[in-house]
Amino acid sequence: MLPNSNKRTTSVNPTWCPGCGNFGILGAIKASFDELKIEPQQMAVVYDIGCSGNMADFAYAYGFHALHGRALPVAAGIKLANHDLRVLTIVGDGGCFGEGVGHLVGIAKGNHDITVLTHNNFLYSLTTGQKSPTTPKGVKTPSTPEGSLDEPVNPLGLAIINQATFVARGFAGDIPHLTKLLTAALNHRGFAMLDVLQPCPTYNKDRPYNWYREHIYKLEETDYQPTDRLKAIEKSMEQDKLPIGIFFKQDLPAYHQQISTLKTATLINQSSGKIDLSAALREFK
Ligand code: SF4
Repeated sequence: MLPNSNKRTTSVNPTWCPGCGNFGILGAIKASFDELKIEPQQMAVVYDIGCSGNMADFAYAYGFHALHGRALPVAAGIKLANHDLRVLTIVGDGGCFGEGVGHLVGIAKGNHDITVLTHNNFLYSLTTGQKSPTTPKGVKTPSTPEGSLDEPVNPLGLAIINQATFVARGFAGDIPHLTKLLTAALNHRGFAMLDVLQPCPTYNKDRPYNWYREHIYKLEETDYQPTDRLKAIEKSMEQDKLPIGIFFKQDLPAYHQQISTLKTATLINQSSGKIDLSAALREFK
């Protein structure tokens, strides 16, 4: 697909509903790529299934549209094959904390050097608003007509307790703040999760932009320091008011940095031209 004049998006117009929080997230992604001066060929973006995954048609970078819940292992594989690339994963709350939750745990524990940006709108919106793993208890949806009976998953707590080395939360309605968080996440060497509070005006009428503006506060405007895992878990459990900002950050070697054979060159450079894949490719004809 051809880029438009700003080289960050394609010539295809987004098909999201008017007012969707995905517009703000795409704006922050473009602004962050500009800040970091990342060229499209230096970035691989892996998309999960959902409204957020439609971004595969609009963002101009290497793109891979994975199966539902499987975006994270694809992203980790791309990073291991070519660790010169920056790798971003675009995934919804259903794909990341439902179908893909086992991948999230394993890849966070390994400190794989990928950034996971979750579009958390608290529903499966692409399939008309069914309950997702983050839907608050008691919320009525097409799949929970008497109200959800489950306690919701705590995305930040899940990542922090499973040894993620960068965990943050942003808001799709504050693009400058979200841009700063994404830039920090992309600059982090190791596993970074950025959970984004994303309004879905079509199906989540309980949480419009104004609801978020009344319920969020910025961690950097308090004396909070994102260096203590236990305090970060405690912070992730706040519910009356929702903190946004960096909850936890720790510098440790990333997965690929601990593999001796990847120290001299990327895997793709080591194997380029030396492996005959013709027999394998014939199998898929
Ligand atoms: Fe956005 Fe919700 Fe529309 Fe999907 S259904 S495009 S999440 S507003």
